Amino acid sequence: MKIIHISAECYPVAKVGGLADVVGTLSRYQSREGHLVQVVIPCYETNFIKENEFETVFWSQVELGNFNFPFSVLKGVKNDLDFELYLIAIPELFDRAEIYGYKDDIERFLSFQKAFLDWLITVNDKPTIINCHDHHTALLPFMINYASKYVALKEVPTLLTVHNAIYQGQFGFDKLHYFPNYDLSKTDILQWNGCINSMAVGLRCARAITTVSPNYLNEINYSGNGMEMLFNQVRYKSKGILNGIDIEIWNPETDSKIAYNYTAENCEVGKSKNKQKLCKTFDLDPEKPLICFIGRLFPEKGADLLCEFSKKSLSEKDRELNILILGSGNRDIEEQLTDLVSEYNGNYNVYIGFSEELAHLIYAGSDFLLMPSRTESCGLNQMYAYRYGTIPIVRSTGGLKDTVVDLDEGGCGICFNQASVEDMIKAKNRALEFYKEEEKVITTRKSGMRLNHSWKKAYQEYLEMYNLIIK
Ligand code: ADP
Repeated sequence: MKIIHISAECYPVAKVGGLADVVGTLSRYQSREGHLVQVVIPCYETNFIKENEFETVFWSQVELGNFNFPFSVLKGVKNDLDFELYLIAIPELFDRAEIYGYKDDIERFLSFQKAFLDWLITVNDKPTIINCHDHHTALLPFMINYASKYVALKEVPTLLTVHNAIYQGQFGFDKLHYFPNYDLSKTDILQWNGCINSMAVGLRCARAITTVSPNYLNEINYSGNGMEMLFNQVRYKSKGILNGIDIEIWNPETDSKIAYNYTAENCEVGKSKNKQKLCKTFDLDPEKPLICFIGRLFPEKGADLLCEFSKKSLSEKDRELNILILGSGNRDIEEQLTDLVSEYNGNYNVYIGFSEELAHLIYAGSDFLLMPSRTESCGLNQMYAYRYGTIPIVRSTGGLKDTVVDLDEGGCGICFNQASVEDMIKAKNRALEFYKEEEKVITTRKSGMRLNHSWKKAYQEYLEMYNLIIK
């Protein structure tokens, strides 16, 4: 099979969150199973792109209303990736350090999608399938189905993977002229709530839909950011496939980003050494249990609750724990979290920013990983935590429900129900009590490390979906 993944992110080329990890790892796995896999993303100014070699395989101009943007398609010449990497370089729109967050994001990703198709129609060997990821690439199925320019691709099946239904890529009909000429009788397909909604268009036009966990698929049918009805309508062609993790990159036995390598057998020593390094770096007491948070600082992740949670947890006289937070996002949340550092010095710290290195050290060196998410399509952090012998404390939602079983039910995690400071505090208290039972903690860490989160099962399920729609 020739599989094209088209996405805004792909690890290790450009990463903001789990989308990158999933695209990078699924592609690698599919490639190793013998498929020809091509990943196509925009050409940003990332370190990976600066440090690797690319050759130009196509160039042209992409039309966007009255604008014409020159673009080229770059192919990775030599890199350690197992798949073929293609970058769509539109310098005016993507020669920037950040991946998202610009006023012209709609223009950027519309141009990206059109440029991709302009190139693809010139390629002789058409893909067996195009796997689109999230709203940034969700207009492709519409363009393929109904734009006259791309009629050569009409038979190519498309699958849309929904990683996050919160972000939908909405914009006004005043930008309709950005679209390539298409069958105007299909304009209704573009419309959701009076706007053009990329996610809705993708849901309607892709031959199949996957979400990144089975429980998330259930949840968005009744809580889908205003799109519940549509998720229900396309349910017949949808499947929830639980993400795996890259067990080679996320492997405490070989991970070069951590202070000391370890396996389940010597995890006591391994975790303790990594914790010491982490605590030294952040001026924390290694004798106390350490609860960490890693992630985008947005309300969907429950990040707005972290400040109050930390204050309440650390206001007790004996301050029997340490808290460490790594993340970036909402400015207010960043400031609130930073402001706490001076007050709770020695027991609390925060690193505002994105650091892959630090994330690895935190998974290795912390005792518990807190995920108070309001919504979580799958969540990878809890699986990374397991892999490094860290006990996840999670709100049972979305994929967290599929992957974390509570200690009381024989699992290796701590679960709570409400995204509230009260529930977080109760869960934290349970964690601190549990931490005192040293033997049980070690057994639980080891069991977590031995859980299987490889891509094998997910790979098969994606393949089944591809085969279904190819037929
Ligand atoms: P989402 O994709 O919704 O952000 P996931 O749990 O699926 O959440 O994936 C998050 C990924 O991003 C993980 O690999 C996590 O380690 C990483 N990550 C998030 N924030 C940061 C950060 N500030 N620094 C380093 N890695 C981060």
